Amino acid sequence: MFSRRGIMFVLSSPSGAGKTTLARQLLADNADLVPSVSVTTRPMRHNECHGMDYYFVSPNEYKNMIDNQEFLEYATVHDNGYGTPKKFVENALSSGKDVIFDIDWQGAKQLKDNVPHDVVNIFIMPPSPAELRRRLTGRGTDDDHIIEKRLTKAYSEMLHWQDYDYVVVNDTTDICVKKLQSILDANRLLKNRQYNIADFVELFHKI
Ligand code: ADP
Ligand code: 5GP
Repeated sequence: MFSRRGIMFVLSSPSGAGKTTLARQLLADNADLVPSVSVTTRPMRHNECHGMDYYFVSPNEYKNMIDNQEFLEYATVHDNGYGTPKKFVENALSSGKDVIFDIDWQGAKQLKDNVPHDVVNIFIMPPSPAELRRRLTGRGTDDDHIIEKRLTKAYSEMLHWQDYDYVVVNDTTDICVKKLQSILDANRLLKNRQYNIADFVELFHKI
């Protein structure tokens, strides 16, 4: 009924809690939702694709993008550089699309500080320490020492839950996706995100 500005729908969690899995399902279910594809300096995993999962760049290219102010936010995570390209997001939002982000707490904070009204951010919790270890190992994409490093960082990342609008535990994927969908739906209906409501009401002035 009303046109609206898109939402920046931000998911953060410790590595392995399930953000990528959840985001894929939401993207499959929502035609108006598009992914923000980040730039990273980390090596590509065997199951990843340049331009779909990330734009894989050299440290030098990454630095140039920072210098040229091409990022909406950027941060070092697990010793690698990550950043969100600005132009894509701005175009998507102004054409009424919602954008989903899989970024860490540092990036989520930068977005919330810079564009608070556009951002809805959600911290995804793993159901237990044992299950987080099981998921990271079971994914089969990282060496043991990288898995240990990511597990060691989980606690300090989870301490940032207070910075988020919502906290959702990812126990069962389907249930978690339903909860995320309801957050998305409710935020799409906020009066401040919808245009032309006053004009619509005027149609009823002299009914
Ligand atoms: P992240 O993007 O947060 O690092 P992934 O989405 O890659 O996490 O998920 C890590 C692993 O856990 C994957 O192998 C994925 O299939 C599995 N996984 C994700 N969500 C669930 C869930 N709710 N229950 C069981 N396994 C899950
Ligand atoms: P991974 O290397 O496992 O894909 O991601 C590692 C971490 O980097 C995750 O916490 C993920 O959310 C975060 N990340 C991915 N892209 C970005 C980004 O563009 N900006 C920030 N700040 N973090 C990101």
